[in-house]
Amino acid sequence: MQPELIIAIDGPSGAGKSTLSKLLARELGYVNIDTGAMYRSVALAAKRRGIDPIDEKALAGLVRSVRIQFLRASEGERVLLDGEDVSGVIRTPEVSLLTSRVSACAGVRRAMVDLQRELGTRGGVVLEGRDIGTVVFPRADVKFFLSASATERGRRRYEELRAKGLMVELEQTIADVEARDAADSARECAPLVQAEDALVIDSTALSIEEVLQAMLREVRRKKESSHPESAA
Ligand code: C5P
Repeated sequence: MQPELIIAIDGPSGAGKSTLSKLLARELGYVNIDTGAMYRSVALAAKRRGIDPIDEKALAGLVRSVRIQFLRASEGERVLLDGEDVSGVIRTPEVSLLTSRVSACAGVRRAMVDLQRELGTRGGVVLEGRDIGTVVFPRADVKFFLSASATERGRRRYEELRAKGLMVELEQTIADVEARDAADSARECAPLVQAEDALVIDSTALSIEEVLQAMLREVRRKKESSHPESAA
């Protein structure tokens, strides 16, 4: 039997990582791990406890005291923070911006990376985030870097938030996406960079199905090149 793969999907916000990661995991019968949801949960916990996002010491203490879990429910994957389902509340624009600040803290990253390695080490996983192929699993079997123009990513995020009933403005949403890109790329600790061996997919003009098929082709190619005897 072929060993199960570790698949990394990195890229900036709004590039379609969450959607594609879920679809790819479903197609392959793998587990999907949304690492952004983990950082978002820490940011929410910090907000609730009134912790300043630049207070590294308090954040490092906080991250050791919270429990983040994923639950696979019939309506999709849920994120639990100390047992509470926070899947919805971690997606507000306020928490998004706060997450970019909290995730720059080295202590927070160390704890999250440990947890992500624990969850993914046995393979059969698709992990999506910013540093999966560079830091968390630099030897992942397949790496994707998914991108799209900032305007397109902002537009997608705007439609997603509007569909959830949030009264956001298009211009502001694009500006928020750009601000998060800048913060995620400029931070000292594990900035958003493309792994040299990642397959880059620009999804600006592609449909979800087209991106999914491109990813599946790459996964099959990798499987065939590492186990040619069992290639279908
Ligand atoms: O992917 P998502 O937009 O949910 O991520 C929210 C934020 O979490 C990002 O803007 C980034 O600051 C942080 N993040 C990170 N490393 C990851 C995943 C997310 O720093 N692996």
